[in-house]
Amino acid sequence: MADIQVGVLSCSGEEFLGGTIARLATRKVMEELRTGKVVTLCLPLYIAGGDEEREFAKNYPVIAVDGCGKCCAKKATVKFSGAVRDTIILSELFGEDVVLSDIVSARDLKEEHYQMVDKVAEEICKKVDTILAE
Ligand code: SF4
Repeated sequence: MADIQVGVLSCSGEEFLGGTIARLATRKVMEELRTGKVVTLCLPLYIAGGDEEREFAKNYPVIAVDGCGKCCAKKATVKFSGAVRDTIILSELFGEDVVLSDIVSARDLKEEHYQMVDKVAEEICKKVDTILAE
């Protein structure tokens, strides 16, 4: 884990498009765009009391990626581990009406949704790079 330096915590929204996009974008950053530089944290485990997750968030900078303005990932981090270093709220990028769409299954996603994934992944990468450059 020596070269993992930034935690990215995505909300786990199953009910809205925003949660699906947030998860896919976070995964893309971890697996393709910044491999080895970031790790994702499991929000449900984190909330349930995963010691490793909470310790990580206390010791490393965390970027919260939230599907909508309820900011579940940010709130969980603040509650259990302290401040987040940065936040991405998808409703601020795409509008609340878009992220609250009930298209939630990855198999229903269209090209425009994958473009949203790419946009969010790009935003996450910018924030990761900023933190790593500090
Ligand atoms: S931030 Fe919004 S989309 Fe994500 S888990 Fe919370 S309510 Fe659901």
